Amino acid sequence: MDERIWVAGHRGMVGSAITRLFCSQGRNVITVDRSILDLRKQDEVEFWLRANKPTSIVFAAAKVGGIIANSTYPADFIYDNLTIQTNVIHGAHKAGVDRLVFLGSSCIYPKFAEQPIKESSLLTGPLEPTNEWYAIAKISGIMTCQAYRKQYGRRYVSVMPCNLYGPNDNFNLETSHVMPALMRKFHEAKVTSAKEVVVWGTGAPLREFLHVDDLARGVVWCHDNYDEYEHINCGAGFDVTIRELAETIARVVGFSGDIVFDVSKPDGTPRKIMDSSRIRALGWKPEISFDDGIASTYRWYLANIDAKNRAA
Ligand code: GDP
Repeated sequence: MDERIWVAGHRGMVGSAITRLFCSQGRNVITVDRSILDLRKQDEVEFWLRANKPTSIVFAAAKVGGIIANSTYPADFIYDNLTIQTNVIHGAHKAGVDRLVFLGSSCIYPKFAEQPIKESSLLTGPLEPTNEWYAIAKISGIMTCQAYRKQYGRRYVSVMPCNLYGPNDNFNLETSHVMPALMRKFHEAKVTSAKEVVVWGTGAPLREFLHVDDLARGVVWCHDNYDEYEHINCGAGFDVTIRELAETIARVVGFSGDIVFDVSKPDGTPRKIMDSSRIRALGWKPEISFDDGIASTYRWYLANIDAKNRAA
């Protein structure tokens, strides 16, 4: 049978990286725009699946956002994510699609999980409150895949990435994650010769950052080979403080003013580095260094976002 891989969420940072990689391997990816198919509409999703007959699905569609967006719009985060993933997973089963890769996030783990966090830490303690709505939706997604495997033998698997960054990220300062937010803040401070840049929180939290092209290789590998009930972690294997991240971005961007911490903004979870030894034992490892990844993402930002802003 000819391969037809549906990458759901192909316009986002993760979905676009996975689509690029599949296409570079000469594989047949199918996509559908949000304006044509609203994944929150169950009937439309089921109709689209019957009509387009994917042979497998990579589910990279999600309502995502940074720490303030998550805690400001909890209803949107839980409703959109629960609805779209349930429609796609259940619809996949009904349409006879036997293979699906569900993408989650390291925020599924308890706030005070033992570090580095093993897959087995799931559901062993309370979640970080700033993103518990998103986390509960993602935990439900993992369990939905497991349920269809258990009841119907479907080969549905889940991959949990750490914090990601790279081309096609969201650079909106209100809704973005820390990496694109700081890249934009430092860049704008440099071009306006501002004296300081404000970074949220204390600067002490630790985060694990993986370039999205490295994640894409892990996801494509899992799509082709991974077939287990338990979800699998996919992380960089090291973490940095938000202060170190800010200093690195300032250096790459060429900003030499002050970095000021706004402690009225939340820190979120103190640390969430994952134990990715299972996927590493299967042969995957990151290839893009932190400094190179930040430098190439900044070049992408300059060529795409900043150029667009200047043209507008
Ligand atoms: P998280 O990993 O789910 O907490 O999501 P974020 O990427 O939004 O935030 C990571 C950490 O970076 C938190 O401690 C934030 O307070 C901190 N941070 C510092 N400055 C910023 C900023 O400008 N935007 C965002 N989103 N986070 C920031």
